[in-house]
Amino acid sequence: MSELLKRSHEDWVRAAKNSTPEGRMFVDGDYRPALSGETFESRTPRDGSVIAEVARGSAADVDSAVRVARSSFEDGRWRSLAPRARKQIMLRWAELVREHTEELALLETLDVGKPIAESVRVDVSSAAFCLQWYAEALDKIYDEVAPSGEGTLVTITREPLGVVGAVVPWNYPLIIASWKLAPALAAGNSVVLKPAEQSSLSALLLARLAIEAGVPAGVFNVVPGLGVEAGQALGRHPDVDKIAFTGSGDVGKLFLQYAGESNGKQVQLEAGGKSPQLVLADSSNLPAAAEAIAWGICYNAGQTCNAGSRLLADRAVKDELLSRVLDVTARFVVGDPLDPTTTMGPIVDQRQLDTVLTYIDLGREDGADLIGGRRLNPDSGGYFVEPAVLDKIANTSRVAQEEIFGPVLSVLEFDGVEEGLAMANQTVYGLAASVWTKDLATAHRVAGKLRAGTVWVNTFDATDVFAPFGGFKASGSGRDKSLHAMDEYSALKTTWIDFS
Ligand code: NAD
Repeated sequence: MSELLKRSHEDWVRAAKNSTPEGRMFVDGDYRPALSGETFESRTPRDGSVIAEVARGSAADVDSAVRVARSSFEDGRWRSLAPRARKQIMLRWAELVREHTEELALLETLDVGKPIAESVRVDVSSAAFCLQWYAEALDKIYDEVAPSGEGTLVTITREPLGVVGAVVPWNYPLIIASWKLAPALAAGNSVVLKPAEQSSLSALLLARLAIEAGVPAGVFNVVPGLGVEAGQALGRHPDVDKIAFTGSGDVGKLFLQYAGESNGKQVQLEAGGKSPQLVLADSSNLPAAAEAIAWGICYNAGQTCNAGSRLLADRAVKDELLSRVLDVTARFVVGDPLDPTTTMGPIVDQRQLDTVLTYIDLGREDGADLIGGRRLNPDSGGYFVEPAVLDKIANTSRVAQEEIFGPVLSVLEFDGVEEGLAMANQTVYGLAASVWTKDLATAHRVAGKLRAGTVWVNTFDATDVFAPFGGFKASGSGRDKSLHAMDEYSALKTTWIDFS
């Protein structure tokens, strides 16, 4: 990895020119075109050019992948392997992902515009580590014996659910796919993955590496395609046992509807957020808070479900804090994501860029003071925008309430802890929040009252695979990551034996 981090912009541009990404779907251990032969274009947000033709999976392709996955589940070629054998295969897979860091990072950067240094350092390595972590865990989980008394033995065992459909977004394609695949496969399920249409390429390579590592054919399949076609077909398929979804709340609700209208499959939703960063008057380390707040909204160009998009600052510290935040946002280098010095790449596509720019205009119309937020380098064909700060916005404004999914920070003021806490919780979302204070008792009390799946105290976006991740309220249900995610992909079976 360290050698890759020494590469120049020219090296990466050359590698991109030589890259010929695989766009066919991956079913039953091999690549194949869509049954219709149709494809769609995958464009890079760095300049809008086409980088691959991707198979446009239809309901028929989804059906074929689900049948293959079902038969791999029923014959036990994966779930009946000894846990230690599955572990070794998944460990090998994690290693292969690391060995293919260059290719995977390049695909991730070309597809969605992540700065290449982050694709190398964060995305590929986190996905590999996630596979490794669940591999290491899977042969260390014991089942239970219930306290049923003499004459009976009552065991409570975990069993895989069957066929899992994973539907994922474009903002962290490899990482979020691995959060689903790794625990689902570790628990013994077979999987059909539907990547987002903006970001199919890394998943298609990941599938080939699974086969190379020894995952039996048919156990892990990837059907790229459009949401309304392949995504819907997976959601409605009568032989899928569970949908593990990450994406927008509106599409998440559609999956609940698909399940209700088909076989009542389980649906786990990881949806959006509008996460507050609550800075109290006694925060002693404003420079650290400012750094975290700026990174919390600019990392991945703000296209992060838990982006800290609402800064709530006590009036006593707000001016100093905001001026420090602006110092940090001004240091972001917006540009070609293949340049290792870039710290903020483009927005993923034209549609999302238009959304971001529309929200910035709306914030100004709602009376906010706008700092930054201009579109940059339009002549490049890429979708670049500079960080935008909307100061003095009302908590009721749409920009302070709706998920924007771009580098747009809404800034709100409050007087005292109680007002700040109430404002922080005034949102339909509940994915994440942070509180900055030097008082331990206040930190505990406020963390307990913030309605969010993750609360950070004096930090932001600290994360690891051992900690569960998911939301309260409209941000979703269920949890990715940690051992709890294994339960999301397992059913409990009670076996009651009477030997009295
Ligand atoms: P999206 O909801 O548009 O798409 C997500 C997935 O659903 C894609 O694979 C897409 O093809 C599919 N899809 C779209 N329309 C569909 C339909 N009608 N039927 C079936 N499938 C359909 O979301 P996105 O734009 O790809 O990603 C951004 C969203 O994801 C944001 O709201 C963000 O907050 C959320 N997100 C949440 C988390 C989390 O863990 N909570 C993490 C990352 C992203």
